[in-house]
Amino acid sequence: MMATRPAKAEAPAGAAFAVLEIDLDAVAANWRLLRAAHGGLPTAAVVKADAYGLGARRVAPRLYAAGCRHFFVAHLEEALAIRPLVPDAFIGVLNGPLPGTERAYRAHGIEPVLGSLGDIARWVAFARRSDAAQPALIHIDTGMARLGLEPDELRVLAAEPERLEGILLRYVMTHLASADMPGDTSAWEQLRQFAAACTQLPPAPRSIANSAGLFLGGAFRSDLARPGAALYGVNPGAGPNPMRPAVSLRARVLQVRSLAVGEAVGYHATWRAARPSRIAVVGVGYADGWPRALSNRGAAHFDGTTLPLVGRVSMDLSAYDATDRPEIGPGDWLELIGPRRPLEVVAAEAGTSAYETLTSLGRRYARVWRG
Ligand SMILES: *Cc1c(COP(=O)(O)O)cnc(C)c1O
Repeated sequence: MMATRPAKAEAPAGAAFAVLEIDLDAVAANWRLLRAAHGGLPTAAVVKADAYGLGARRVAPRLYAAGCRHFFVAHLEEALAIRPLVPDAFIGVLNGPLPGTERAYRAHGIEPVLGSLGDIARWVAFARRSDAAQPALIHIDTGMARLGLEPDELRVLAAEPERLEGILLRYVMTHLASADMPGDTSAWEQLRQFAAACTQLPPAPRSIANSAGLFLGGAFRSDLARPGAALYGVNPGAGPNPMRPAVSLRARVLQVRSLAVGEAVGYHATWRAARPSRIAVVGVGYADGWPRALSNRGAAHFDGTTLPLVGRVSMDLSAYDATDRPEIGPGDWLELIGPRRPLEVVAAEAGTSAYETLTSLGRRYARVWRG
């Protein structure tokens, strides 16, 4: 006897407990602004970490339509996910090729960033095996000590240039450590080191600036800029934000509770009502990337009123003091990220960066892409 498979169960329209709205037009406008900041020179889009949480499969084709032809991701898997959507674009993998992945790079026209003599040796060996020069980028470390060639390794390459035979050197790149810190001059030192390092390698196009680097002036222009965060609305500097916000998050009130003086909210009773209070509960918690660090520090917004987040953020819930807005009831929408609750403010309240807040955005929200 054949078991009948039940139809796929779907939630009714409008059932979402929270909606994450992603404005693809804003992302495209931000890319154009960044390209202008780069003096109209080629400007890539860094779409690693699923386009910083916004959805690389939506963001990459939208940017391609806007004219972007260079993309960077962290991992090969991320490159493969967008390859069919941007068929003839350059895709670079920042974290470099793991042993055994070489053929996948070639098969899909994806280019690795080589960051050590070991990476280079393996890529050269692959080029020999395949009897054809293989494209790649080389990363020079100028002060991050994460990935990239160190000065000793550069000296080896300068002395033994045959170590690069078989590599089609597409770009030489470096990464700025503190370009977003006002008054910090280390980016200039990095630029100087990078220029010196490049003289030890065969001539090749260069790639320097991240989002913040694009706003440091003409000296940071190169053959390919690599902004990420600013595309998604993160402020690339410390002044007023020139970027358009690209995400908003709103959540519906599940319940409103009335508390007497002295009654507590949430795990470990970290907040107690100092007055008769009304508490609006929403279904967004730390499992949704709404950081537990917002406990008793964050807020939501409702129609001109800021509602302080009270008590601990739990896995699936958080609570807001709605005493001053007695009309709030179940089903009403509170703004968690948006014009009144900018990403930077939420990040500061959580004691973290806008980067981390964005890339942590949860997978349970109903996602709406505009544009
Ligand atoms: C993430 C990353 C970028 C993008 O940096 P933003 O600060 O997000 O603009 C550029 N280059 C490298 C090597 C990166 O790892």
